[in-house]
Amino acid sequence: MITVEALTKTYSGFTAVHDVSFTARAGRVTGFLGPNGAGKSTTMRMMVGLTQPTTGSATIKGRPFADLPNPGLEVGVLLDASAQHAGRTGREILGIAQRTMGLPKGRVDELLHRVSLTDDEAERRVRNYSLGMRQRLGIATALIGDPEVLILDEPANGLDPAGIRWMRDLLRDYADQGGTVLLSSHLLHEIEVVADDLVVIGNGRIVAQGTKSELLAAAGTVVRTPRARDLAHALEVAGVACTLGTDGTIRTDADPGQVGEVALAAGVPLVELRSADGAGLEEMFLELTAATQRESGTAPTEKSAA
Ligand code: ADP
Repeated sequence: MITVEALTKTYSGFTAVHDVSFTARAGRVTGFLGPNGAGKSTTMRMMVGLTQPTTGSATIKGRPFADLPNPGLEVGVLLDASAQHAGRTGREILGIAQRTMGLPKGRVDELLHRVSLTDDEAERRVRNYSLGMRQRLGIATALIGDPEVLILDEPANGLDPAGIRWMRDLLRDYADQGGTVLLSSHLLHEIEVVADDLVVIGNGRIVAQGTKSELLAAAGTVVRTPRARDLAHALEVAGVACTLGTDGTIRTDADPGQVGEVALAAGVPLVELRSADGAGLEEMFLELTAATQRESGTAPTEKSAA
């Protein structure tokens, strides 16, 4: 449904997006995950023709965005909730979208209701909206043409916990009915709970992609023992690459069964042996992006901690 092929964007010598390729499929929520500055927005802007790619291409339902005859009916886009005209009311903004797309008038009220903006809120000017209200209005604008594809950049920013739950349910429902959802986030948990597929980006490059379960299964093993050095040595002798953390925890790509056997043969007692996926996507995300963050000299930020 959405295909991105070898997209690259260079700004006067700086490569913001480097050779990014992925597909977002129908009936699935694809999470586009990466720290701030990783290149998510630039990629999404190129997908909808707002930024010209240096090389590469993107298609939605088989066509470049610019070739879609009435794009709002094909793809709902929310890139920056704060970019809405601040002097217009929420109702006016939806009314313009409704008329531009040639939709029945009733769609405006339907959508206000769908995103839980009250009549009173709909009459206020957007400059007086909270960020969460702007996100709801932005989602209403994206949905008003009843498109099959949604492209949302950090849609949960500014929503309160109930709002985040609401949006998650909405996106899940949308994909369950056959829609294609691509949403970006720098927050691991947000993506982990809703996405079926993941594309992880760091420093403009894809560092991992696949189904959520594949990526979690690839996360390896975490093992703890009072004799960490002995076990690390035994693992290396057995040809299992591992890293010994400062907290005495050993991590390896091998599966827990193999690590347990090496420990048994070496006579090393274990106090913990588990799949690294117990820690969820966070561990994977931190591992995958740590290297690229170091390369760029970017200090770990709130995104990593979130
Ligand atoms: P994300 O959405 O993942 O936070 P962005 O796509 O916004 O990341 O930015 C990726 C990188 O490209 C950042 O380093 C950003 O500063 C840079 N960048 C984005 N837009 C421009 C631009 N118009 N000119 C120069 N650099 C840009």
